[in-house]
Amino acid sequence: MSREFPAVDRPRTVEHILTGVQTSDGAGVKLTRVLTQNLQERLDPFLMLDVFRSDDPKDYIAGFPDHPHRGFETVTYMLAGRMRHKDSAGHEGLLQNGGVQWMTAGRGVIHSELPEQENGIMEGFQLWLNLPAKSKMVAPWYRDFSADEIPGYVTREGVSVRVIAGTSHGVAGAMTREDTEPLYLDIEMPPGSVFSMPLPSNHNAFVYVYRGEMTIGGLEVKEHHMAILANMPETDGVLLAARSSARAILVAGRPLGESIVQYGPFVMNTREEVFQAIHDFREGRFA
Ligand code: FE
Repeated sequence: MSREFPAVDRPRTVEHILTGVQTSDGAGVKLTRVLTQNLQERLDPFLMLDVFRSDDPKDYIAGFPDHPHRGFETVTYMLAGRMRHKDSAGHEGLLQNGGVQWMTAGRGVIHSELPEQENGIMEGFQLWLNLPAKSKMVAPWYRDFSADEIPGYVTREGVSVRVIAGTSHGVAGAMTREDTEPLYLDIEMPPGSVFSMPLPSNHNAFVYVYRGEMTIGGLEVKEHHMAILANMPETDGVLLAARSSARAILVAGRPLGESIVQYGPFVMNTREEVFQAIHDFREGRFA
């Protein structure tokens, strides 16, 4: 399907470009944490973005054995590879090639995320989306979307867009969330193309370029770099331009404006609630 561009006349500029930190998590999975804890307020409602890409099984084979979460949602987008999910709420699924797993930890789950491949490339993203205070203790929820369940469209210029969450150019994505209105797009741009996406100026937004490079607000954003988009009140969206083939994710959402207290896999509003989470987990009260 071919589409017109929605008008973006006053595009956002880039406030900051960063590369994140190399780290490992789970039982030793190598990854790059691009959205780190110090950016949680700036990028509210998003709490974390991990990027993983390796063709060396040593970097990913141990996976993420049983671990708890409370107070937020995890969105895992698998570009390549196979990962088995099992959780204490009884959900199980296989996430692979272009699929998305959306998990609401709510009041608490214990889950494992384990690779189901002995070699080949494992590549993808895990984004953490905060829950509003009133929903942090909801029942855990989970859904897998296979690649063909992710809505998408192609613009007249051949820009191919997958809409994981929110609505883009009239196409409703796989998921919507009322309180934070998250937008999560995977955008593949052919050489010489431009892509526009309207965004409310108060929504926090970032672009992570994972193939090639793009020009955003007149600034070159190189491969494996994240651009935090400035929130100027008079702006109406974002414009991406690619001189050669490029791919990026665009993530935006309405900030909750609530206090954020994180201790490892628990993200609550107060220290007391975090202590309670640790206590409940130790007492075996997670599902
Ligand atoms: Fe997890």
